[in-house]
Amino acid sequence: MINSKQIQCPQMILVVDDQELNRDLLGDILEEKYELLYAENGKEALEQMREHADKLSLVLLDLMMPVMSGMKVLETVREDEELRRIPIIVLTADRNAELKALQLGALDFITKPFDVREVILARVDRMIELSEGRQLISAAEHDQLTMLYTRNFFREYANRLHQYHPEMQLDAIVLNIEQFHSINALNGREFGDEVLRFIGKEIRSFLEETQGIACRTDADQFNIYCVSDGNYQAILDRFQTKVNMFSYTVSVRLRMGVRPWRKNVEPLLLFDQARAACNMIRGDYQNPLMIYDEDVQMREMLNRRLLNDLQMAVDKKQFHVYYQPKYDVRVSPPRLCSAEALVRWQHPNLGLISPGDFIPLFEGNGMISLVDSYVWDEAAGQIARWKEKYNFSLPISVNLSRADIFSLELEEKLIGLIKSNGLSFRDLKLEVTESAYTDNAHRLLEVVARLRELGFEIEMDDFGAGYSTLNMLSEMPIDVLKMDMKFVRNIEKSETDFRLVELILDIAKYLNLSVVAEGVETAGQLELLQNAGCDLVQGYYFSCPLPAEEFEKLIQHEVKIKRG
Ligand code: C2E
Ligand code: CA
Ligand code: CA
Repeated sequence: MINSKQIQCPQMILVVDDQELNRDLLGDILEEKYELLYAENGKEALEQMREHADKLSLVLLDLMMPVMSGMKVLETVREDEELRRIPIIVLTADRNAELKALQLGALDFITKPFDVREVILARVDRMIELSEGRQLISAAEHDQLTMLYTRNFFREYANRLHQYHPEMQLDAIVLNIEQFHSINALNGREFGDEVLRFIGKEIRSFLEETQGIACRTDADQFNIYCVSDGNYQAILDRFQTKVNMFSYTVSVRLRMGVRPWRKNVEPLLLFDQARAACNMIRGDYQNPLMIYDEDVQMREMLNRRLLNDLQMAVDKKQFHVYYQPKYDVRVSPPRLCSAEALVRWQHPNLGLISPGDFIPLFEGNGMISLVDSYVWDEAAGQIARWKEKYNFSLPISVNLSRADIFSLELEEKLIGLIKSNGLSFRDLKLEVTESAYTDNAHRLLEVVARLRELGFEIEMDDFGAGYSTLNMLSEMPIDVLKMDMKFVRNIEKSETDFRLVELILDIAKYLNLSVVAEGVETAGQLELLQNAGCDLVQGYYFSCPLPAEEFEKLIQHEVKIKRG
């Protein structure tokens, strides 16, 4: 934490004494090594201290002075958060005043008449050294943004609490902000910092009411090690309510993982488990609180297993691609017009695993690219086989993850697929999830724009699910909006939801984008969507995702209609 400026600059000392002779004497001793300021009474001393608070390394303070005494200065400084950190040595001839001055926060004495020069200089040197050391330690203890402890200091402190106070029932709580990167990207880092600072302050005031310590670990993750009444929901609600009041225009959602105290379990492990619980509910806005229990433990074991088995799955071709049709509903009866490739994992011991159980896991560590490129290969091969067999080309869309988009080989890989399978760019469509657009938007827009120029059709997936990119929509290089399922779910029951869907359709029309409604399950939903002018529909109403052999029947049917 020491910066070169601090090392090179001479330290600054303020000498306060009403007697010119004393000021001169001290000045003479110190001026060679230190930069000096002078004051003749307490009032001037305080003014100088305020003006140079961040630069002063020491104050030498006489006690008996006109206008304002040294004692009064000590009293004032003690109440002042900023001035309090400046060490003060008292200059006095009155031994009786020593104790009082000490109680008021003075750190040392120099008695009058002054000692030999070397003694004074040594005392001053020592005091500055000590207090700077102390400030360095304190800087290393605290995260400068939130004023909570730093991660290392917290870990050390937590271990000691555990070791020396094994009877204290301290829970491990991990608090995290949903999509913090998007909040930063959309509202600026300044705002992000303000949010973090605010949460830091709220955690500190929470800890004043109980016993415990806290730190910030990653950018947007907080660890709290505290005694609680076990009502974790109330703790989360408290923070969420405060944050809502603080940030009422930008939605900031918190999630919390808790590992309740367990006898003899070390804090490091407790926090690993609290974090695992917290990660498990990432993006699940319905359930922002997760308490570590056996289920979570099982899930964690399963996750480890899946991560472990991933490469084997690729090598042994255990991933299977299913196809879910999309229908053009502007015509009657609706016509098959494309499909989405969706992956499943046929695990030798665990059976058929749905993507919801492993995609988020692999997205978390970038390994998703392995799965994705497997699916693209498979889908591209399939399109080619059907094209040849039926002389009929049905475009199929595949999902792209964030990790794919930031991979340097993406473009080459996709072009390679098209060429080696003898496809045209129109045969393979790309779905990119909305939330990807808010993070590092610049780079993403660049990549997507290039893919689109090549001729790929780009669909924005899950539109409206997370932080809406509405304000960026007009600049986005996309062709299709895939409206998130949540909009469709209640349109039959909720007038508001239906209005929202109409609004999205209006905006899309204005921007010349076609719209796919996902998750359509009933005839009622379909009819409403058709009347509102929706172009394409995907959902269980028409079909769930199907293995290739079954999907082929839909193609055969379509081909039959085409040939009359
Ligand atoms: P998604 O891309 O939004 O895909 C649509 C999901 O909704 C699919 O779930 C599909 O089976 C389901 N769905 C379709 N119609 C209906 C309906 O009418 N009602 C309901 N309730 N659900 C319906 P699935 O196949 O379980 O996939 C879940 C998610 O996993 C996908 O959401 C996608 O984000 C991800 N995913 C699937 N395959 C891949 C892949 O190959 N790569 C990547 N990166 N992600 C994939
Ligand atoms: Ca998709
Ligand atoms: Ca979707």
